[in-house]
Amino acid sequence: MSAEPLIAVLIGPGGVGKGTLARRLVERDDRLWLSRSWTTRPQRVTEDGTEYVFVERSTFEKAIDEGKFLEWAQFHGNLYGTPLPEAPNHADVLLEIEVQGAEQVRRQNADAIIILVLAPSMADLENRLRGRGDSDDHVATRLSSTPHEVSKGHELATFTVVNDDVERTASEILSILEELRLERRNPSTKE
Ligand code: 5GP
Repeated sequence: MSAEPLIAVLIGPGGVGKGTLARRLVERDDRLWLSRSWTTRPQRVTEDGTEYVFVERSTFEKAIDEGKFLEWAQFHGNLYGTPLPEAPNHADVLLEIEVQGAEQVRRQNADAIIILVLAPSMADLENRLRGRGDSDDHVATRLSSTPHEVSKGHELATFTVVNDDVERTASEILSILEELRLERRNPSTKE
């Protein structure tokens, strides 16, 4: 008997490495399917265009009106949204989104697994944000929202991990997901 697919949601402050982690998770576990979000934010110089579906605001707003998103949110002036998932049959769905979106997913699906990803330190977070090619102003704005993203993240999270090393953190998350799959297949093994 196959259990319902998992919905796993990675949240955490900007610069914590959620995107890299998400890509590594789907490379290492072919049962996981990573949703590709839409955004109205301009593409960064460090991005190759595959990170998001980059669209005009009018296109995004039309998609909202047409009910095309599982969730969407405005974050630092730009819109971000998860299209209604078109995951292959039985695949577990992985989302990498901010906290307002995670709240919407949780409201729709109480079983969604929300994983808060934290940086080892504030200095580490700032270094990573600076490495993405954003302006100093933008880095400062992103850092200013970190406390909110972390405190809201703690409220929502089912699990919390510290991203001190991508491979180690990916292994930790994959073990969590494996444990949950086993529990779902054999509910009697749950404590
Ligand atoms: P960035 O501009 O740095 O790529 O992303 C800004 C924030 O938006 C990050 O916290 C990222 O996880 C989040 N984000 C990316 N895609 C989505 C989405 O589809 N929905 C929501 N709510 N947030 C998203």
